[in-house]
Amino acid sequence: MSRFWSEAVRGLTPYVPGEQPRLAGLIKLNTNECPYAPSLRVLQAIRDAAGEELRLYPDPEATQLRQVIAARHGLQPGQVFVGNGSDEVLAHAFMALFRHAHPLLLPDVSYSFYPVYAQLFGIATRSVPLDPQLRLRVQDFLDAGPNGGIVFANPNAPTGIALGLDDVERLLRGNRDSVVLVDEAYVDFGAQSAVELIDRYPQLLVVRTLSKAHALAGLRVGYALGQADLIEGLVRVKDSFNSYPLDRLALAGATAAMQDDTWLAHTRGRIVASREQLSAELRDLGFEVLPSSANFVFARHPEHAAAELAAALREQRILVRHFRKPERISAFLRISIGTDVQCEALVQALRGVLQAPSPALGE
Ligand SMILES: *Cc1c(COP(=O)(O)O)cnc(C)c1O
Repeated sequence: MSRFWSEAVRGLTPYVPGEQPRLAGLIKLNTNECPYAPSLRVLQAIRDAAGEELRLYPDPEATQLRQVIAARHGLQPGQVFVGNGSDEVLAHAFMALFRHAHPLLLPDVSYSFYPVYAQLFGIATRSVPLDPQLRLRVQDFLDAGPNGGIVFANPNAPTGIALGLDDVERLLRGNRDSVVLVDEAYVDFGAQSAVELIDRYPQLLVVRTLSKAHALAGLRVGYALGQADLIEGLVRVKDSFNSYPLDRLALAGATAAMQDDTWLAHTRGRIVASREQLSAELRDLGFEVLPSSANFVFARHPEHAAAELAAALREQRILVRHFRKPERISAFLRISIGTDVQCEALVQALRGVLQAPSPALGE
């Protein structure tokens, strides 16, 4: 706290990212990164871009990358916005599209960055509870009263549960006067994308990232898809904030990534297979595992407190994520899908912890 801080800064409660430890040899299953290396074509493109031209600013419009993304989704380049990670894209969308008289609706259990952006930009929110099985109920959003926008992740984070495309469309049909933002950070692992609805619903914005399925969390590239006038609103915010959010290396790497469908299909297949295997093994250990369409599972054990399980795993150099809040998910662990070897190490460690005579029961 400094007396030089503005009142706005004093009032912030920043997002807390998952731990990025500097220790070697950890099994890191806490931030939903990909356990596999990115495509070799991506690495080569970045090397090729790492030359004399770095003295020049990058293309502020990311023309080539937006063309490649548009082509991949059957859209026009004017329907694509790119940013420094989807977190930045989300921030611009909140600023551009959600500052209205009515509150922004969001699920009570969701990506914990959404309320942080709302606070930063002075946007009132109303949280809509997920049902007892932690599923999003479209009707509850439609019944929540006037809103200045709706945001949710599909699949949801941290539950991993997907909402069907028919439900997404039902929400759009019942909510035509404010923007519906669908955060598809994990869509490649099994959910149906809403991209095909863009041409019919001018209020739909779909946000994607290369951090998860493309194994490029370190490159910081995300994008948004929507009708051209929505996208133009994001560009206005971007050009009032930072004209060059993507550097030359990120542009080169992301362009190559969006062209390597073979790598994506292969990697996605491996992760989905490992997810199904890990879910079955966790159930054998007595865990309740929510049905995941993402690259992580959300699981709780009826007899063991999640915080203590996470601490015990940490002692064995395995990191998983535990959220103390909101209360209704504090019994769960969120476990990113690692390689099969990492998943097996996790299962072995849990087996040891669950069988240990000292009760991990803190309640
Ligand atoms: C990981 C994640 C993001 C952020 O992705 P970046 O592109 O790395 O900023 C956004 N939304 C959800 C739901 C996520 O899980």
